Parts: sequence; C-alpha cells; structure tokens
Amino acid sequence: MIKAKKSLGQNFLIDSNILQKITNTTEIKNKLVFEIGPGTGNLTNYILKKNPKKIYVIEKDNELSNNLENKFNNQITIINDDVLKIDETKLFNEKVIVFGNLPYNISTEILSKWIVNLKEDFWFECLVLMFQKEVADRIIAQVNTSNYGRLSIICNWKLNIKKICDIKPESFSPKPKVDSSLLFFYPKKSFVKINDPNNLEKITRVFFNQRRKMLKKPFNQLFNGDQKVLNKLKINLNLRPQNLNVETYYKLAFEYEKLRS
Ligand code: SAM
Repeated sequence: MIKAKKSLGQNFLIDSNILQKITNTTEIKNKLVFEIGPGTGNLTNYILKKNPKKIYVIEKDNELSNNLENKFNNQITIINDDVLKIDETKLFNEKVIVFGNLPYNISTEILSKWIVNLKEDFWFECLVLMFQKEVADRIIAQVNTSNYGRLSIICNWKLNIKKICDIKPESFSPKPKVDSSLLFFYPKKSFVKINDPNNLEKITRVFFNQRRKMLKKPFNQLFNGDQKVLNKLKINLNLRPQNLNVETYYKLAFEYEKLRS
C-alpha cells in the first residue's frame, strides 16, 4: 500500500472521467509522450490506451519509481529524477506531448523554467497540465482584472493557453483542499523577441511590485523617463500595472533590452 507524501505534492487522480478527459485533449496515437510525476501510474495507464509511440515519465519519488517499473515493465521509460534539474531540450529527438498532474508546490516553477528555456525551436508540441485552480486563474487572467499579473504575462509570451475544465477535490486521493484546473498550452506562431527572458521577469517584477500605484514610478525607475519609449508604445503613465496588456509588457522588455545593449 503506497502512502502519499505531502512534501512531494502527491494527490493521485482516481476519477476515470477526468483521466479520460485529459487524454482526449489532444491526439496521442503514434506520438512521443512525456509525463511529469506519474505517481501510481493512473494517468500513464490512460495514455498507454491511446497507443503513443513511446512514453517517458519523470518521477522524483524512488518508491513510486520502483513501483512503476514493476507495474509497467518495459512499456514506459522511467527517469527517476527531479523535473526541475533536467534539461528537457536535450532529452528528445522529436517534439513531445507533455502531460502532468503537477505537484502544486512547484507547478509555477516548472512552467517558468520551461518558458524561460524555450528556444525558437519548441521541444514540445503541447502541454496538458493540471494546476491548483487559483494558480490557473492567474495564468489565464485577462488584462484589467485582479488576477492579472506577472504569471499571466510570462506564461502568455510564447504560448497560447486554453482552459479545459475545473476539477473538484473528490477526483483525487488523498483529496486536496482546493479545486484544480486543467490547462492546454500550445506554441504561438510569432511572439516579441526578447533575447534574455530575465529582462521580461525584471520588467514585470518592477511594475507589479506596487500593483495599486500608477505606472509613472516603475517606468521612470526602468527607463529614466524616456519619452521616446512612451510615445512609441503609447503608454499613459497615470494607469496602473494591471491596465497594460501583455503585448505592451513584451514590447517594454524589448525596449529595455535595446537600451541596455
Ligand atoms: N500523475 C499522478 C496522478 O495523476 O495520479 C500523480 C500526480 S501527483 C499530483 C504529483 C507527482 O509528482 C507525484 O507522483 C510526485 O512524487 C511527483 N513529483 C513531485 N515533485 C517532483 C519533481 N520535482 N520531479 C518529478 N516528480 C515530482
């Protein structure tokens, strides 16, 4: 009997309708699949039923990893490691479909790592990921709403994002305290080129540091009141950070990079 470890965010999916819904999100047949945190292998089982070309899974927990080895034999390739420590861009020689009922304590860290490391050539075809609902709401938040912020801006930079559904705690064992949401991400065909993603992180950090204050102070701090940038991007400094759309933040990061080069 496997005892779930809270420290590793272990809440196993037990709802067959949801497992089916996740694996119906995108075509899997003959595709390479990469699953993050397979746990007891419930989702892995449903993925296998869809006849993928191959499944790679990464599981940090040694006990679960051994258990998966016994359960699936050589039907899947198990990487017993920490997803935050590996370089996915070097793992595969074709684009993968990524599935993950992510450990909630590190879900934004995993996603940020992928976005920051994304090269022109995406290593994945799409991501089908489960988050705590409150985090998913921030990822997909629209401009001028209270949930809109750094996470929405950074996640929407290179990816289109769609919400598939919300999921109740009863679909998991043990039951988490919060609702969850399933999101689908796929690459944008074009996006503002920012060479160093740290510049986008810095821009959003400084602007959202005081989200209720007007844009004047953070703008002056970063751009020294540069009127040319203001005119070019048509920014009204009396607005607040949540009133600027995502594209304006990408352009600000681009201009910031140009000024410093
Ligand atoms: N996919 C399974 C399911 O839906 O039933 C389990 C999902 S559970 C929310 C998260 C899984 O991620 C656990 O199996 C946990 O051990 C694993 N995990 C936690 N931290 C990890 C990390 N840093 N790298 C890889 N796996 C991790």
